Amino acid sequence: MTAADVKLADKLRTVVRGQVLTDQESLRHYSFDQSIYQIEPRVVVLPYDVEDTQRLVIFAAREGMPITARGGGSGTAGSALGSGIVMVLPEHDCWNRISDFALSADKARVRAGAGVYHNQLQDYLRQRGFFLPADVTSAEISRIGGNIATKASGPHALRYGSIDGFLEQVTFVSDRGEVVDTGDETTIPERFRTRLAELRQRLHADRAAMALLETRRHLKTASGYNLFAFLDDPASGKLIARLLAGSVGTLGLVTEATVRAEPSERQQVVILLYFADLAETARAVCALRELPVAAIELISRETMGILRRRSQLPESLAVDANLVLVELSGPTAETELEKVEKLLRVESFRLLAVPVVARDAEEIARLWAVRKQLLWLIRNPQPGFQALSVVNDVGVPPEHLAGFISEVEQVFARQRLTSLIYGHAGSGNLHLRPLFDLTLPGLPARIQRLADEIYQVVLRYGGTISGEHGMGRLRAPYLSREWGADLYGYMHEVKEIFDPGELFNPGVVFSDSPITDHLREELLPAEKSG
Ligand SMILES: Cc1cc2nc3c(=O)[nH]c(=O)nc-3n(C[C@H](O)[C@H](O)[C@H](O)COP(=O)(O)OP(=O)(O)OC[C@H]3O[C@@H](n4cnc5c(N)ncnc54)[C@H](O)[C@@H]3O)c2cc1C
Repeated sequence: MTAADVKLADKLRTVVRGQVLTDQESLRHYSFDQSIYQIEPRVVVLPYDVEDTQRLVIFAAREGMPITARGGGSGTAGSALGSGIVMVLPEHDCWNRISDFALSADKARVRAGAGVYHNQLQDYLRQRGFFLPADVTSAEISRIGGNIATKASGPHALRYGSIDGFLEQVTFVSDRGEVVDTGDETTIPERFRTRLAELRQRLHADRAAMALLETRRHLKTASGYNLFAFLDDPASGKLIARLLAGSVGTLGLVTEATVRAEPSERQQVVILLYFADLAETARAVCALRELPVAAIELISRETMGILRRRSQLPESLAVDANLVLVELSGPTAETELEKVEKLLRVESFRLLAVPVVARDAEEIARLWAVRKQLLWLIRNPQPGFQALSVVNDVGVPPEHLAGFISEVEQVFARQRLTSLIYGHAGSGNLHLRPLFDLTLPGLPARIQRLADEIYQVVLRYGGTISGEHGMGRLRAPYLSREWGADLYGYMHEVKEIFDPGELFNPGVVFSDSPITDHLREELLPAEKSG
């Protein structure tokens, strides 16, 4: 820690009530998230409450010191790491409060502090017969502020979409330290209102940009700013709430939000299907998604093979096949099941085993548990290998899944990589986790080559560099290629409206830096010794 850092921390202690951490252990802890990166902050601040956050922002703006907000640190693209001030929400009632549960018709609304853990909110809702459909798999380790900032979603995105569709209001601290409640137009600074209205008008007059946005409207994506918000005509508060979704802490610091919740599904049926060939599996997924199913997950045969070698699985998962898990829910679940079975017969898909149908909650949980086991597998793939988060969150229009998967497999074969392939295939969203041998030299070049080739395929199919986990250092240099110069330009304008001084989290949405800058030190032993 330099003398300047000590001075900075001392000054901060006179400004904020909350903790200011500069000890080596804390700085190291907050140098990591779930990505391949390592960046040490200068200082970590735990603001006591919203007022403290305002003071922090005003201080940081004056000192020219960027702020990176951190939720649970579960992000996989390195967006919760920063070399300036890292803001961490302490776990107490100011940030972890759930309140104002209200019912209207068959919907519920609830207010949650940005520090509330996702599973804490789901438990609260479940006890009242509801759930938040943006049900992330990282529920135990991610927080609502982070979920909003990454435009999070989960297996049920196929039916319900991502979290931005469930935001009633968001409260955030702006770059000037104002507290803005998007549900209360009087709190929205005039500069946001007028400039967003002007931007919306120009965007609507730009036929090429609008056409491109329209064609991508149904793509499940968390990449770049949520320009889809401009397609409809929401009041400025709604527009801002939706823009914050996916902004990865670059437009403002979320302090709390009100989300809508759906009634828990009482009737559920899950069917597990076994396919021989991955391309045929993808074709089946496309056919199945035309039915009103709630979720369609895919796990490749190779992934299951690795999982089977590494852990004990129930008999239903012993079949050597590509797996597709389909969830049907609601009062018509049984009728939908008949439609699924008919579709499989009529289309003559070749199944390697008789499908397993689960109806009771325990059986269903047992089948879904395989997705949790994949999270374990990511951390424990094969001895000597790491399942690095490099191209882990791609998406394509579902009708292109078969062609896309086959080309992706060719890329992995060319680069002599085995990869875990699984994901929310019904929404066209796949998690690709190649297993890297860290004893081989040249890891940065191998990472770069893989990302270049995979994203080339993704973009050729009209896909997205992030279907779910959001922006970060891992993807920022590819953003303009995905959206094209015009829409990329509009995204820059959004940033300019909210944060012209680049106070919030630089380098995670717009960046030309190589994606291999700031790799974790443990990933570079071969480079160091060589
Ligand atoms: C095993 C695993 C499974 C996952 N499964 C899913 C999944 O099913 N669906 C999914 O969408 N994602 C998933 N993810 C990715 C990740 O969990 C999500 O992106 C999650 O929403 C991040 O939340 P967090 O609280 O951990 O945020 P962090 O990782 O701490 O931060 C993520 C971004 O949000 C910003 N941020 C955090 N808090 C705030 C705030 N209060 N105000 C402004 N900005 C803020 C940060 O600056 C950063 O840019 C998974 C990750 C892992 C490791």
